[in-house]
Amino acid sequence: MRIGGEAVRTETTQEVRLPFDGSPVGVVFQAGQQEVHRAVKAAQAAAPLMREMTLSERASILRKAHQKLLERAESFAQAVSSESGKPLKEARLEVERAALTLLFSSEEAHRLSGEVVPMEASPAGKGHMAMTVREPVGVIAAITPFNFPLNLALHKIGPALAGGNTVVHKPASATPISAVLMAELFLECGLPQGALNVITGPGGSIGEQLALHNDVAMITFTGSAEVGLRLRNLAGMKRVTLELGNNSAVIVEADADLDEAAARCVAGSFAHSGQVCISVQRIFVQEKVRDEFLERVLAHTRKLKLGHPLELSTDISSLITQQEAERVESWIEEAVKAGARLLIGGKRTRATLEPAVLADVPPWVQLACREAFGPVVGVNRYRQLEDAIAMVNDSPYGLQAGIYTRDIQKAFWAARKVHVGGFLINEIPQYRVDQMPYGGVKLSGMGREGPKYAIEEMTEPKLICWKL
Ligand code: NAP
Repeated sequence: MRIGGEAVRTETTQEVRLPFDGSPVGVVFQAGQQEVHRAVKAAQAAAPLMREMTLSERASILRKAHQKLLERAESFAQAVSSESGKPLKEARLEVERAALTLLFSSEEAHRLSGEVVPMEASPAGKGHMAMTVREPVGVIAAITPFNFPLNLALHKIGPALAGGNTVVHKPASATPISAVLMAELFLECGLPQGALNVITGPGGSIGEQLALHNDVAMITFTGSAEVGLRLRNLAGMKRVTLELGNNSAVIVEADADLDEAAARCVAGSFAHSGQVCISVQRIFVQEKVRDEFLERVLAHTRKLKLGHPLELSTDISSLITQQEAERVESWIEEAVKAGARLLIGGKRTRATLEPAVLADVPPWVQLACREAFGPVVGVNRYRQLEDAIAMVNDSPYGLQAGIYTRDIQKAFWAARKVHVGGFLINEIPQYRVDQMPYGGVKLSGMGREGPKYAIEEMTEPKLICWKL
């Protein structure tokens, strides 16, 4: 752990293991109540320093962190792959993206500004001028999931520091190592002690204690809807942003480029074994091209290579735990019992599940209406585009969705009708670049990430008005 710039040890430790085969990866100390309190107090003590730091100084620290992360990219990629079990080639991409997230945060620090308020638009505003400045909210509790342990943490830490806040970060228990390494890297870049603290330990106890601490001004959470909702209900007057789950859907029209759509859907369904919040889980394909599209999907799926995450040829490795793999397996069984056809995959070995494609998944089974978070996709057919849109919207979630079609009118019509935070045309809903606004509606959360948007959530506009 890192509290107030110091490496902190406690009496309790937790072993981190490679999810693929259970081999040991590292050991972290576990925070208790005392460490949570110490971390918040350290963040509080560093808050005046961060608040007073010039935009140029904040940007410079973030830029140095960007550069240092690129210099150490391979060791971070190895850490991310080993703790999360994601294939090394995907972990390398995550590190590249994480470095960009820091660069975008640094650039946003330069752009942090308020506005001039048109006071004289009101009769009572005559003779008054006003402007807003953006001030940090204070201590931010950042709680992050296991699936992108580095980049999703930096989507919180980067904008928080750019906005002049201080942070206490609680990474997922499965993936604490990259978080601790990142806190060390920031100190080397000149970040004041206490501006970023990392505490490791179980979310149900220390995560909740952190989020509810009186001196925390804001909770920024990425994870499951269940935990997000709980924190939202307990947060009282704290600011809260939530980045939660999805059961992403994509529509494939009869006029679509089927080769492209099938190749991208397979990539979007099975990357990191489907453990991506915008993983393609539901595909609705126009009935005339259903068989042709399915053939292509199966051909691409057959090419995927399962294996050890640290081998560069591996496309698919394990899920985060065997229990999670068993859950997804049981959802596939439930769908098959209800009439779905399992066309490929679904076989489990310990925590690894072969990528599974099902057809004709009934809308009431868990695979259709909940977030699978595993390597499985259901392909259903439709006749009219209106029906496909209704099926996409028939979800408690609303993070991203997409359509493949060559007809621009249809594409934009669908974009207006689908209720989500982001809609992708001729691209899978699993697509994300780190500077875009990203977040959901319904159970997928509230607030937006992407450094420009997160920094707005993490700063308050203060009005300064004067009478001439
Ligand atoms: P999770 O179980 O909700 O855990 C997320 C984080 O919350 C972990 O650090 C966890 O700690 C902590 N936590 C657990 N219970 C808590 C509590 N009562 N109070 C405070 N913190 C608590 O989620 P996950 O399994 O790690 O991640 C998968 C989920 O994240 C999926 O639903 C996925 O869709 C979502 N996700 C969303 C986005 C997005 O941007 N929308 C991105 C990635 C993932 P422990 O690990 O110690 O339990």
